[in-house]
Amino acid sequence: MKIIMLGAPGAGKGTQAKMLADKYDIPHISTGDIFRANIKNGTELGTKAKEYMDKGLLVPDELTCDLVVDRIKQDDCAKGYILDGFPRTIPQAECLDNALNAMNDKIDYAVNVDVPDENIIKRMSGRRACVGCGATYHIVYNPTKEEGICDRCGKELILRDDDKPETVENRLNVYHEQTQPLIDYYNNKGVLQEVDGTKDMQEVFDAIVAVLEA
Ligand code: ADP
Ligand code: AMP
Repeated sequence: MKIIMLGAPGAGKGTQAKMLADKYDIPHISTGDIFRANIKNGTELGTKAKEYMDKGLLVPDELTCDLVVDRIKQDDCAKGYILDGFPRTIPQAECLDNALNAMNDKIDYAVNVDVPDENIIKRMSGRRACVGCGATYHIVYNPTKEEGICDRCGKELILRDDDKPETVENRLNVYHEQTQPLIDYYNNKGVLQEVDGTKDMQEVFDAIVAVLEA
C-alpha cells in the first residue's frame, strides 16, 4: 500500500502516519524528519535545509525530490510506504509520478487530513518533539506521562523552532499557496480521500483505516 498524507502543517499527518506504519508494517517516510536528522548530524543538506525551515519556507524541490525517489527504491519499501510531508508542491508531485511511472508503479491513496487554520495554531503551539527519537506529543491532546520527558526513549522534549507562532503563520501561508493545490491534483487522479482531522486521534485513525480497507 503506497499512501501520501496531505494536510496543513500540524494537521496530524505525522501522528497518523506513525500509527499506520505500525499497523501495516510499512516505512513512514517524513521529509521533515529526514531534514531534521541531517541538521542534527551537521550534513551539507542539513545546513542548506535549515535556512529555509527556520523561516517557515519550503526547502527547494531540487534538494527534496531525489532524496525521496532514492528512499522509495529501497528494499523495505517494496510492500508499500507512507509519505508524510512529501510532495508539498506540484513539481514534487510530478517528480514522484515520473519516478513511479518509470518503476511501473503508482500511489494507491492520497489521504487529506482536513483541519481548519484556527485549530492548527493551537496544535502547533502545543506540539512537543523528542530530541532523541523524534516522537511528537501535544501538551493537552497527547501529553507524556512525565512532563517534558519522552514516553518512548526518556529524552527531553522541545518546542520546534518552526512551531513558534511567528513561523507558523508563514508555514500556513506557504501551505495554502504551494501545497493545497495538491488536493485537486490527486483528486483528478482519482486517489484522493478526505478525512475530518478535527476529531480525536483514534477517530481520525479509524476513519483512515476504513478508507484504506473499503
Ligand atoms: P503534522 O505531521 O501534520 O505536522 P503532527 O502529527 O505532528 O502534525 O500533529 C501536530 C500536533 O497536533 C501534535 O502536537 C500532535 O500531538 C497533535 N495532534 C495530532 N492529531 C491530533 C488530533 N486528532 N487531535 C488533537 N491533537 C492532535
Ligand atoms: P514537517 O516536519 O513536515 O512539518 O516539515 C518541516 C519543514 O521541513 C517544512 O516547513 C519545510 O521547511 C521542510 N520540508 C519538509 N518536507 C518538505 C518538502 N516536501 N518540500 C519542501 N520542504 C519540506
